[in-house]
Formats: sequence, C-alpha cells, structure tokens
Amino acid sequence: MAIQRTFSIIKPDATKRNLTGAIAAKFEAAGLRIVASKRIQMTLAQAETFYGVHSERPFFGELCEFMISEPIVVQVLEGEDAIAKNREVMGATNPADAADGTIRKEFALSIGENSVHGSDAPETAAEEIAFFFSGLELVG
Ligand code: ATP
Ligand code: MG
Repeated sequence: MAIQRTFSIIKPDATKRNLTGAIAAKFEAAGLRIVASKRIQMTLAQAETFYGVHSERPFFGELCEFMISEPIVVQVLEGEDAIAKNREVMGATNPADAADGTIRKEFALSIGENSVHGSDAPETAAEEIAFFFSGLELVG
C-alpha cells in the first residue's frame, strides 16, 4: 500500500475539552504525519454541504448543529495506508463499540459527539481535503 493522504476533523466535543493535542498525539503515535492543520468554525451551510451524504438521516439536523457549535480542527494526515490507519485509530462510530486504545473509546461522549471524523475512501479523502484546504496550504 502506498503513501496516502486522508482528511480528519477534531470535532467540537474534543476541542471544547482541550483534547486537540491528545488526539494529535494518537495520530502521530500511529505513524500518521500531520501535514496541514487549522482551527476553524464552520457555518451551517458549510456543515450541511460537508455532511450532505447524510441529509436524509434522522440525525442530520442534530449533527450539523453540533458541528458548528464550537471551533473544530481540520487536518490532513499522511502515511502508509493513511485512510484505513486513521479509521483504525479513530475506532467505531459508537464509542460503546470502539476498541480499547482508540480515540473514540478514550474520548468520545456519544455516537454523535464522537470526537473525530475521518475520510472513508480515497475519493472522499480527496474531496474533503479540497473542501477545507487550498493548494497553497498543502506542502507537497
Ligand atoms: P465520520 O463520518 O464523522 O468519520 P463515521 O464514518 O464513523 O464518522 P458516519 O456513519 O459517517 O460515521 O456518521 C457521520 C457522523 O454522524 C458520526 O461520526 C456521528 O457524529 C454522527 N452519527 C452517526 N450515527 C448517528 C446516530 N445514530 N445518532 C446521532 N449521530 C450520529
Ligand atoms: Mg463517515
């Protein structure tokens, strides 16, 4: 498997509890290099676009409101098999199902307030990186 890039969000529940550094340390310990990083706060329109794939799900409104409730940290992670590796280090969506040592097991509050987002495929990773970062912000 080649070197890949993936997109990550440290979500409002985590930034609010000062967990940005602890979560970044988990990525780095897993061999993922943080190649771009910034703290932003999304508008409702941006959150609705970003999570558009979930627009028909019952939790869509709650999810978008949560994602704009506090600043978030958006990052690009790079490494061998980065997309799958990041999903592994994140753990299952519901912290009750997440494996020991994963970010969601250690830090998530609930299935909704689950501390991190990570891209699920190469196509979504490329789209999500381009949604938040300009070419100038991405070192080759
Ligand atoms: P993410 O896309 O954030 O990396 P994921 O791929 O593990 O998480 P998805 O199924 O894509 O999970 O859901 C996107 C997000 O929507 C979840 O991370 C969570 O914040 C929220 N979510 C998912 N299921 C529920 C639910 N049943 N109730 C409330 N919120 C939910
Ligand atoms: Mg997802």
